[in-house]
Amino acid sequence: MAKCPYCEKPVVLKASGSEKENEVRKETKGMIKKEVMYSCPHCDKVLGFGFFLGGMITGRP
Ligand SMILES: [Zn+2]
Repeated sequence: MAKCPYCEKPVVLKASGSEKENEVRKETKGMIKKEVMYSCPHCDKVLGFGFFLGGMITGRP
């Protein structure tokens, strides 16, 4: 499970059931590009934009 680099609490990209409180918040920015901003549900720090977080969560570079 991925951790927030700021508060070190567990975060999940897609939560199911009881993990709901650990699900990252997604906010879509921009009219054309639709860039997705992810933020930590615990400390509200921004974790990344678009594909950046995908790499962090899945462990891919
Ligand atoms: Zn956090």
